[in-house]
Amino acid sequence: MFCPNCGYEMFCPCDNCIDDVPDGMMPHGWTEDGNGIICANCELTASADWWEELEIDVVLKVNKVTSLDELAEKIAVEEKRGEQPTETPG
Ligand SMILES: [Zn+2]
Ligand SMILES: [Zn+2]
Repeated sequence: MFCPNCGYEMFCPCDNCIDDVPDGMMPHGWTEDGNGIICANCELTASADWWEELEIDVVLKVNKVTSLDELAEKIAVEEKRGEQPTETPG
């Protein structure tokens, strides 16, 4: 996940993830009520839901679709295309 304001990569600061934060990078912060995520670089603050939506947005853009339903359809179509037609000899 990247900050849309400054492009800084966001790292989770929890006990499970803190070890994965690369040297020199700062994990994002949480607001006092625990509902908001703060960019470690520019201090852009938004709700965790908002960040989650942003992440979904990026996934949709990368896949050139406008909704998760459309993405599911696209994946289903591509899976079908990947299947080899079974040829019956004779
Ligand atoms: Zn974490
Ligand atoms: Zn930022």
